[in-house]
Amino acid sequence: MSEPVRYHNLVNGNRIDSNGGDWVESYNPFTGEVWSLVPACNAADVDRAVESAHTAFSTGDWPNMTPSARGRLLMRLADLITENSESLAQTEVRDNGKLIAEMAGQTAYLPEWYRYFGGLADKIEGSVIPIDKPDMFTFTRREPLGVVAMLTPWNSPLLLLAWKLAPALAAGNTSVIKPSEFTSSSTLEFVELFEKAGFPPGVVNTVTGYGQDVGEPLTKHPDVAKIAFTGGNVAGQSVYQAAARGMKKVTLELGGKSPNIIFDDADLDSAVNGAVSGIFAATGQTCIAGSRLLVQRNVHDQIMDKLLEIAGTARMGNPAEMSTQVGPVTTTQQREKILSYIDIAKSEGAECAFGGGIPEDESLKNGWFVEPTIFTNVKNEMRIAQEEVFGPVLSVITFDDEDHALAIANDTQFGLASGVWTTDIGRAFRMSEKIKAGMVWINTYRAVSFLAPFGGYKQSGIGRESGQEAIEEYLQTKTVWISATGKMANPFVLS
Ligand code: NAD
Repeated sequence: MSEPVRYHNLVNGNRIDSNGGDWVESYNPFTGEVWSLVPACNAADVDRAVESAHTAFSTGDWPNMTPSARGRLLMRLADLITENSESLAQTEVRDNGKLIAEMAGQTAYLPEWYRYFGGLADKIEGSVIPIDKPDMFTFTRREPLGVVAMLTPWNSPLLLLAWKLAPALAAGNTSVIKPSEFTSSSTLEFVELFEKAGFPPGVVNTVTGYGQDVGEPLTKHPDVAKIAFTGGNVAGQSVYQAAARGMKKVTLELGGKSPNIIFDDADLDSAVNGAVSGIFAATGQTCIAGSRLLVQRNVHDQIMDKLLEIAGTARMGNPAEMSTQVGPVTTTQQREKILSYIDIAKSEGAECAFGGGIPEDESLKNGWFVEPTIFTNVKNEMRIAQEEVFGPVLSVITFDDEDHALAIANDTQFGLASGVWTTDIGRAFRMSEKIKAGMVWINTYRAVSFLAPFGGYKQSGIGRESGQEAIEEYLQTKTVWISATGKMANPFVLS
């Protein structure tokens, strides 16, 4: 076995390790072996990174740069991502077990977020208020917030970081990034590009390590003005509490239990393709996974036949090979969690129609694999239909008509995404209006773009990422009043 690669944090333009000299081991989920080490930081490291970001926000080149110049730096960064996209993709494959087939497309698309928000940097405009007072000129300025703490989960580190970093920097903020302790390598490799792109030191800083040691002190730090968090609901609530205590702005992108709804008038082949892509892509480790498949009763058997046929062709294997369709899950803890949910579903009376365990194939034995799994006879009140599994486990639930489908779809604490498969345009419209979720896909699933707002209703989060709305999350408004006369009357003399 070769020596693990050592990654370093970036603080004020310097590559540094933790002040305690500790490291977190990062595993390759296909081999089960440690392949890289990242610094295990603590509160003192957090202080150092926040101080660097705070200084870069207040003094030096960054606050004096024109918005157009900031935009050009983001464009240059986008080009550098393109030049390095293959290496970044390979790192996520090794670190997360993500498929190279998916990562090649994802890292090729990633620069678009930096280009889009780079383009928006000099289009952030205040307004002149037609004020109701004589001789008064009143206008607004849109200003950055300050230091933004960005906390990302393990499933798509570079993509979910881009959704935060691109608008935050375009708006003129500085950043401290805390990636997941399980998958920090690609982020540390990526931030090397900022110096090459010409960003002043301190605009982008990283601090790696565990949630308790790094995430908590970072979210509580008095010099952090905003927290942008993607992750689970337990950590999300604690981040929200820290934000409330410190009166910080916050965006939260949390979990989901998204309904993917197939009506009997749908193109059933496409609908089943959408169902498979909705739950088995990224081995089910996506917040937008269509983990509840709602199927109209009269087409249930037809759908199940097609679903089992496609699921039977899924090729599990080495995520570094282009032909692999289902990779391992990212952590051994996550595999245990998924397997425990499979047991829960069985004990609740759901019927396992496909998969349900660890594959027996010798060539997969070192990896953290779980078979693509399909449960039928699921009732929406079961835990398997209410709680986020974050793995390749599909729950099939039947419904009778549109109202019934809607009632089941909305009967969840979450509200992130949803899919509707129908050829009836009226039904498509009605469903898109009544589903309580941040995204509704009609006759498609999993489409995302830098242009389109992304975020959740209910427990799935607060705020939006991507699209023009996203930059608002990183700005605040200042109202300026100017007296045209320059005179102020004595308030104690009545005229
Ligand atoms: P997690 O909540 O355990 O961790 C997310 C990040 O927060 C990590 O960097 C972690 O170290 C840090 N953290 C943990 N506890 C913290 C605390 N108390 N204070 C501050 N930081 C803390 O999430 P995860 O297990 O890495 O990721 C999986 C979850 O992320 C799933 O629930 C999934 O749905 C969600 N997710 C949501 C979206 C979305 O856009 N809505 C996208 C991807 C993943």
